[in-house]
Amino acid sequence: MHGVFHAATPSFQIGEFMEFKKNDLVTVKIEDMGHDGEGIGKAEGYTLFIKDTVIGDVVEAKIMKMKKNYGYARLVRVLEASKDRTEPKCSVARACGGCQLQFLTYEKQLEFKKNKVVGNLERIGGFSDIPVEKVIGMENPWRYRNKAQFPVGKDKEGNLITGFYAGRTHSIIPNTNCYLGVEVNEEILNAVLDYMRENHVEPYDEVTGKGLVRHILIRYGFKTKEIMVCIIINGRKIPNAAGLVEKLKDISGMTSITLNVNTKRNNVILGNEILPLWGKDYITDYIGEVKYQISPLSFYQVNPVQTEKLYGTALKYAGLTGKETVWDLYCGIGTISLFLAQKAKKVYGVEIVPAAIEDARKNAEINGIENAEFFVGKAEEVLPAKYKEDGVYADVIVVDPPRKGCDGALIETMLSMKPERIVYVSCDSATLARDLKVLCEKEYQVEKVAVCDMFPGSVHVETVVLMMYCGDKRK
Ligand code: SAH
Repeated sequence: MHGVFHAATPSFQIGEFMEFKKNDLVTVKIEDMGHDGEGIGKAEGYTLFIKDTVIGDVVEAKIMKMKKNYGYARLVRVLEASKDRTEPKCSVARACGGCQLQFLTYEKQLEFKKNKVVGNLERIGGFSDIPVEKVIGMENPWRYRNKAQFPVGKDKEGNLITGFYAGRTHSIIPNTNCYLGVEVNEEILNAVLDYMRENHVEPYDEVTGKGLVRHILIRYGFKTKEIMVCIIINGRKIPNAAGLVEKLKDISGMTSITLNVNTKRNNVILGNEILPLWGKDYITDYIGEVKYQISPLSFYQVNPVQTEKLYGTALKYAGLTGKETVWDLYCGIGTISLFLAQKAKKVYGVEIVPAAIEDARKNAEINGIENAEFFVGKAEEVLPAKYKEDGVYADVIVVDPPRKGCDGALIETMLSMKPERIVYVSCDSATLARDLKVLCEKEYQVEKVAVCDMFPGSVHVETVVLMMYCGDKRK
């Protein structure tokens, strides 16, 4: 197979590579790609990780850091370009920490993601013949994000800038036209920077803790075309707020302009308090037929086009006929729950964040959905307790955990409840593989796997797995 996504263990003897030192130039053929999208190749048998290279490239690279078994090098120039290499659309693709795979054709990005999932299921889960039904890519893998948070700062000359953080650091790479975000972002960012210059408003400085404007948060409803702008400030008010509103309010679609107060000296972007400046303090948008109210603090999937396909796949895998009882664990603001409620008898959602459950209940109400009920708490505590005390039942259990995967106590309860179907939505295929291994040891088997690309350009990938109850395999 072309490109297996783990670093090959080099065979070597200690001291063998001591001839290399920092800043040495080497020629490397890229033969593999790591989980973070870096190219991997060998120079005289010594394994090097080189960012911004793709399988098939022959590159000149400068050695930056050496470890015993491997090292890191920086791409100096491409000597022979791989047929899978493409010119990135974005001029700051190399410096910006947002994208890792822009040098790879989109088709190969999808292959990379599929191989990453399959590789983890094989190596960690011990599965073989994995039934990958489909890889769900985007027709147009650009301008897909409905949310962006731009840090504001100054460059070396003291000019006001906004853009994105460089990989692994907090230095801002100026960029008001990110191709993952919507086009209107640029107009909004320039309006805010103009306002700051005209009113001598200083950006926040992480080192000194001084300055006012920290981030500019923009959200866009793809279906409703409503726009939200939220300025995150190190304080409670801004000079000439009316002047800022004046610059923004006539942008087509503008619906909500707010301030968010964050005076803490940490790198969490948002504080808890929202101060309205103009319009509503939320925007609305739809996933399928379901309507959502989104405030600056709400969690909401950032790629609405792919979210619909992802949830559509989860819904299909749930196999609902209208008679089923469904548990949706790690339900967030109830997006999957409400999607499923349209086709099930009853859906129960469980989520640890109380504000998200408030949103879930409100979203159920504005959609007139009466067969969804939500509980605040840890999935691994709520479900076992309800099962023990009330003997709750499930035809289908859906889980969509954070990266660390499902808690062991939850998996045990799921195995005791024996739902006909388990649908696992995962943003980390390594923990997915670990959990599937336990679930499929005895009474479940993997029926279908779908890989969904929610984040083109990045190395992240979502997976949906359908498992069916198949009785005790040991009998
Ligand atoms: N299914 C939702 C959100 C999934 S993200 C959607 O598609 O929108 C994972 C969610 O799990 C987050 O909302 C997080 O707050 C929640 N979470 C994290 N740990 C949890 C736990 N132990 N029990 C329940 N929910 C948890």
